[in-house]
Amino acid sequence: MDSYDVLVIGGGPAGYVAAIRAAQLGFQVACVDAFERGGKASLGGTCLNVGCIPSKAMLDSSERFEMIQHEAGEHGIEVDGARVDLGKMLGRKDSVVDKLTGGVAYLFKKNKVKSFHGLGRLVRQDEGGWVVDAAGTEVVARHVIVATGSSPRELPLAPFGGHIVENSGALAFTQVPQKLGVIGAGVIGVELGSVWRRLGAQVTILEALPSFLMAADDAVSKEALKQFQKQGLDFHFGVQISAVTQDESGVSVTYTEKEQEVSARFDKLIVSIGRVPHTAGLGAEAVGLELDERGFVKVDGHYRTNLPGVYAIGDVIGGAMLAHKAEEEGVALAETLAGQAGHVNYDVVPWVIYTSPEIAWAGLTEKGAKEQGLNVKTGQFPFSANGRALGHNDTRGFVKVVADANTDKILGVHMVGPNVSELIGETVAIMEFGGSAEDLARTVHAHPTLSEVVKEAALATDKRALHM
Ligand code: FAD
Repeated sequence: MDSYDVLVIGGGPAGYVAAIRAAQLGFQVACVDAFERGGKASLGGTCLNVGCIPSKAMLDSSERFEMIQHEAGEHGIEVDGARVDLGKMLGRKDSVVDKLTGGVAYLFKKNKVKSFHGLGRLVRQDEGGWVVDAAGTEVVARHVIVATGSSPRELPLAPFGGHIVENSGALAFTQVPQKLGVIGAGVIGVELGSVWRRLGAQVTILEALPSFLMAADDAVSKEALKQFQKQGLDFHFGVQISAVTQDESGVSVTYTEKEQEVSARFDKLIVSIGRVPHTAGLGAEAVGLELDERGFVKVDGHYRTNLPGVYAIGDVIGGAMLAHKAEEEGVALAETLAGQAGHVNYDVVPWVIYTSPEIAWAGLTEKGAKEQGLNVKTGQFPFSANGRALGHNDTRGFVKVVADANTDKILGVHMVGPNVSELIGETVAIMEFGGSAEDLARTVHAHPTLSEVVKEAALATDKRALHM
């Protein structure tokens, strides 16, 4: 039986990064991953295959189409007859995915990580460690890392199939649906809804919660909702779905909104109501791997499960279901196994929504900070007062800095506007070092850049914004 120091089950952002880092640290590493695209093994998990990467590729293509149609004229560029070749657009998305998933396979080779394609199942504990069935081959490993990720949550009233799709189906419609329903106004719902609206669909988003993006700062969610509604996304909040039926031509959804029963008909329905931990096929029950009441693998602060030598990271342990959180856990665990001080700072994990305008935040919201009894001051600065944003012809949104009024320490930064997915990075770095609003305000920012809005928002916490 082949033996390894570390065997990783799952080749998504948590698993493949853990495998690479463990190999860098000198371990003999193998990774078993079951994902297939087009009947072939494809490393990278949900994120690279059917999540982060293809959704961003489609967001980018659809945004360019929208820009050409509605904005090019304002730049003095006349374009006649712009139309979408959806097959080509999907093909470009697929080639981006191919490049990146192939890149992970290359990195495995480069780092001498043995790759198995198929299911990984915990079999039994042995003298040498854990025996794992890796795609039909029994191997033994001193440390096993469970990184089996998550799957889309199904709505019992609307099981996936036919015209009712989850993320992978929603990234592969072969025709732009005329009427698209989306259940769930979370990150995935608004991103995918935005893609198809830009390509011509009439999009209705049904959300059970009473308001939009409740985890974001109130000012940001209010501004984002205003912008999305202006674009034509039709949101309904506080909705209760009572029936979903489908036939050959589409889906009928009945729901209650403000005590009124409403019926709607869609060509396609995306259900994006969150994700559930994926542990099927892992042999968890047979070996007694402890899960919590929601099915997440239970771990302690060092990613140790109840089984000695078995660890878990990424979506399957819960917390923020984000690729970068999963990756950091992969690094931290590999380093811990090597006797180093692996650590993830969960207080400063950036959140990004890649809509237009983009939304990004890290740390505490103003409300959250106040609820913790902190003495809070805030500074907000709009993109409309920024030269680069004017040049871009995109002045929507603002940056808001939330700082401790006693110590000046930055508690959170909240953004809605152009390219804020990139702007959040510097604030995360400053927060990681426990930096203050003054630190951010005194950092020289290149002119003219969108990043000057971040500096001005920091100055505004002390009522010293220079360009307002
Ligand atoms: P996964 O990526 O789910 O990988 C788990 C892997 O394990 C899969 O390949 C699976 O097939 C495999 N597996 C499962 N069980 C077994 C088994 N028993 N044996 C072998 N293999 C197994 N996050 C962001 O940070 N930014 C984004 O922009 C973003 N966009 C997203 C868009 C969409 C549409 C979706 C659905 C998700 C998005 N996410 C995004 C979330 C992100 O994809 C996840 O947080 C991330 O993939 C989690 O990584 P993971 O390694 O824990 O799990």
